[in-house]
Amino acid sequence: MKILMIGAHQDDNEFRCGGTAYKLTQKGHTVKFLSLTNGCGGHHLMTVEETVAARERESAAVAELLGIDYEIWSDQADCALVADLPTRRRLICCIRSFAPDVIITHRPNDYHADHRACAQLVQDASYMLVVPHECPTVGAMKTMPLIMYYEDGFTRPEFNCDVIVGIDEAIDVKLKMTHLNVSQVYEWLPYTKGETVPTDENERFEWLKGMDVSKPHTDEEVLSLPRGYAVRFARTAARFRSKLIEKYGTEKGGTVRYAEAFELCQYGSGMSEEIKALFAAL
Ligand SMILES: [Zn+2]
Repeated sequence: MKILMIGAHQDDNEFRCGGTAYKLTQKGHTVKFLSLTNGCGGHHLMTVEETVAARERESAAVAELLGIDYEIWSDQADCALVADLPTRRRLICCIRSFAPDVIITHRPNDYHADHRACAQLVQDASYMLVVPHECPTVGAMKTMPLIMYYEDGFTRPEFNCDVIVGIDEAIDVKLKMTHLNVSQVYEWLPYTKGETVPTDENERFEWLKGMDVSKPHTDEEVLSLPRGYAVRFARTAARFRSKLIEKYGTEKGGTVRYAEAFELCQYGSGMSEEIKALFAAL
């Protein structure tokens, strides 16, 4: 099957569905990452041009790690994505040319204007994908893909976990792909939060994780840890523990350490038996 993961920025897919992406590729499915902007706004020291070039190099490294195609809209400025008609049509052509069975993207309720625009663009494109007179240069799809949203912590309205994927087998790869986004995770994002990053390569990777991943932690411990990406990925398992037990049974579901969660979008196609089986097998 073909799964298209659409983020507003390079790093959105890595953080929110990178483990699922890896597990899908390991089962022989085709995953593609798409970033609707070039990330040019995300740095405090480099110029816009230098930032775009750095982000492209980092995304290329992620693509190589996962063995996937990673498309970046390099002419679309960061912090300036708008859900207008030309952009919708560009996205329709882009989605049709890959013809995914599943799309994963942001929820429309999110702090970043680009994330909201990205979610809106995917929703606006969903029905048009099957309308032949819309964007006739790229053939219309026969059926709409299933659309799902990544997890977030916003509560008005609250994220609803419809699909859960335990990613313990993928956590090393997910942390590596997070680490590869150097200009984000070690430079720009710490700058915005006033955090100090260790300079030593090994120390900064441990800092990035925020917890000792070689030891098991209870859900209460995970939820009390202040920061770090391993902590973030473990919090999803703690937050949706009951869903993990429902899916994997008491023994495995009770001990899965890292997870990714998704909410079904009510637009696009419904959950077919084939797609249900795809995620049940992860
Ligand atoms: Zn983003």
